[in-house]
Amino acid sequence: MRECVEFCRRLSIHDLGIRREIPPFLVVRYEIMGRVVADLIPLTTLPCNYGGERPYFICPSCGRRREYLYLPPFSERLLCRDCHGLSYILIQVRRTRHEPLFRAIMLERRFLQYLDNMERGKRPYHLERMRESIERRFARLYGQVR
Ligand SMILES: [Zn+2]
Repeated sequence: MRECVEFCRRLSIHDLGIRREIPPFLVVRYEIMGRVVADLIPLTTLPCNYGGERPYFICPSCGRRREYLYLPPFSERLLCRDCHGLSYILIQVRRTRHEPLFRAIMLERRFLQYLDNMERGKRPYHLERMRESIERRFARLYGQVR
């Protein structure tokens, strides 16, 4: 089984809240088994269709533009999904007897994320979309289990 994005720590460019004045680098510090590791992640931008520009990471290994970087368990580098050879859990368990179980686990994680977003006061529109998606997944899962 390949390592999956779902079990990695993920750094999202969207969570950084960068709007203007995009710095050329981002210094990221994270702790691995009690040891602090610092990484220098280059940033870049791409103009949007309707004006402005969006920030992206540049993967330190392949140099490609990425919205997310991942830190798998036992790894020491934040790299893109391709460089870590990561897959998605549901692709690997699709059409096996484990699929409903993993769907239930993912649904629970999504629900915890929803509660966390509520606590952090995310936009009502965002929360509403999330709630709808959780309800859809719940209905689909119950359809499979019964
Ligand atoms: Zn890469």
